[in-house]
Amino acid sequence: MRIGVDLGGTKIEAIVMDDAGVIRSQVRVPTPRAGGYEAITAAIAALVTRLESEVQARCTIGIGTPGAISHTTGAIKNSNTTCLNGRPLQQDLERRLGRPIRLENDANCLALSEARDGAARDYGCVFAVILGTGVGGGIVINKTLWSGRQRIAGEWGHNTLDPQGPDCYCGHRGCVETLLSGPGLVADYQRHGGTRAVDAPAVVAAARDGEPQAQASLRRYGERLGQALAVVVNILDPDIIVVGGGLSAVPEIYEQARRPLASWAFTDDFVTPIVPAVHGPASGVRGAAHLW
Ligand SMILES: [Zn+2]
Repeated sequence: MRIGVDLGGTKIEAIVMDDAGVIRSQVRVPTPRAGGYEAITAAIAALVTRLESEVQARCTIGIGTPGAISHTTGAIKNSNTTCLNGRPLQQDLERRLGRPIRLENDANCLALSEARDGAARDYGCVFAVILGTGVGGGIVINKTLWSGRQRIAGEWGHNTLDPQGPDCYCGHRGCVETLLSGPGLVADYQRHGGTRAVDAPAVVAAARDGEPQAQASLRRYGERLGQALAVVVNILDPDIIVVGGGLSAVPEIYEQARRPLASWAFTDDFVTPIVPAVHGPASGVRGAAHLW
């Protein structure tokens, strides 16, 4: 049996999954705020011990977390749980738990989860994206995660979409993430004079309500999504694109993105399905369990 752990900024969730993909046990605790890195590694180890005693089995362990994992040191970088940054989480957990573990970013976990038994279960080459607080992506080919030489395969969130666009924390301008994350949608709306909405769901609600600024922002969002995905399609030509994260629940973005994507993709008969993730917020733990 496999344990999957989703290490988030506010909660740590863990499951035990059997070979049939059935969840046998599940536990969720708040991410420790005091005690920093040591407290977080101790909390993960305690969850593993608890789950293994519940199912009476020694399990494989996979962990998913936002941020990137250095291919040279195994350390985490760009995590919004900042005490993890620069720390060798994988090695420290392997020492604590006495076995090898696997660690991947949350977008790779989404891709794996959806490819194994989600929206992309019947497809060979899968590109999965997270459109949420941040923007990430992952590639799975024939049910196997493709991590890449630098472990950045699928990280389209920091491709440049608009060289004159907003500053990004990564040091560049106009990255996909600055325009297609939830905060990116809100910032676009406010740059164009919108005043009613302060978060992405509110921009969507205002657009449905007929507010012109919000409708224009959502339209630009769809065009940019199509343009950004076309870059991926022209290189990878996946069999399906699966969308996760908070904005995946907004049907308008699929409609708005399809036409520009079809026109930017280097083909005159673009047919690739673009669908929401099936497992939603559970893709983190499920994908982590599927790392073995
Ligand atoms: Zn960037």
